[in-house]
Amino acid sequence: MGAQGFGGFRRLVLTAVAGALAIGAAPTAHAGTVALTFDDLPIFGKFRPIAEADALTDTLVGGIERHHWPAIGFVNEIQLEAADKPRRIALLTRWLDAGLDLGNHSYSHPSLTNTPVETYIADVARGDVVTRPLMATRGKTEHWYRYPFLETGPTLAARQRFEGWLAAHGYRVAPVTMENSDWQFAEPYDDALRRGDAAQAAHIRAAYLDFTARVVPWYRQAGAAVFGREPAFVFLLHASQLNADSIDALADILKAQDLTPVTLDQAMADPAYRTADTYVGPDGEEWLERFATTLHKSLPWSTMPQMPADIVAADAALEGAQPAPTQTPAAPAH
Ligand SMILES: [Zn+2]
Repeated sequence: MGAQGFGGFRRLVLTAVAGALAIGAAPTAHAGTVALTFDDLPIFGKFRPIAEADALTDTLVGGIERHHWPAIGFVNEIQLEAADKPRRIALLTRWLDAGLDLGNHSYSHPSLTNTPVETYIADVARGDVVTRPLMATRGKTEHWYRYPFLETGPTLAARQRFEGWLAAHGYRVAPVTMENSDWQFAEPYDDALRRGDAAQAAHIRAAYLDFTARVVPWYRQAGAAVFGREPAFVFLLHASQLNADSIDALADILKAQDLTPVTLDQAMADPAYRTADTYVGPDGEEWLERFATTLHKSLPWSTMPQMPADIVAADAALEGAQPAPTQTPAAPAH
């Protein structure tokens, strides 16, 4: 009752603020906000012993808590399948105990581009068996779905079949409108740490933060180019050691950009996200690109920062040298 009353009051205030702002250069209540989303929970990358997974989660979630950010993590429950499953599940509980949200990222991270749609649906249905009841005990409902590889279906029929299933099961698609290719830096970073090469790890982390500081403003320009104003952003990150070790530096970048983290639900309330996504095809395009197609706008590609060549090469070399998975397949990146 009290919360409802406050909500009504807040809506009134926000309406007034939005109305006042509309008179100016058309900023909105959503400008300068970003939803932080972390994929491939509980742990991005190779399967780790539980002690390492615990330490990574503590550092990452502890950092998010220290900055008082709302955030959501997207889970691949295949990662829970190990002899120490209860302790793997406790990694997810750590997120919920920090007041953070969780969503479905499918069970085993398949690509809808090359998986038959009925097989894909069965995988996604299996993806919330643990997470949904875990959230229910905290009065939360799992209602966001993030496509692995951002691949939304090679044909209109496949896409409509799957998204019909999603809607019937209370899910909404969590789009991506900002990203920093963190997954491409994360594997070489893990590899450097595993080899005990602290200098290389420091180099990769510095390159990652430098790239992030340049690519975030690019996305802000791109968003303004598509919508004629800056939308609320949805930032794709991963639950990686690299991000766990970089939270304070990422916070500095967001601060320098005057970007305030909000919940995914808050970001998605931006009317920009009512724009149709008309892209159908095999590629994992992010949503500014999709909205640009719908609205017949173009993104400022010529000014987009380029990934450092040595990182791209290091990541590609690791992909090619992937050993056969042992205890459980590691969720693939992206
Ligand atoms: Zn993923």
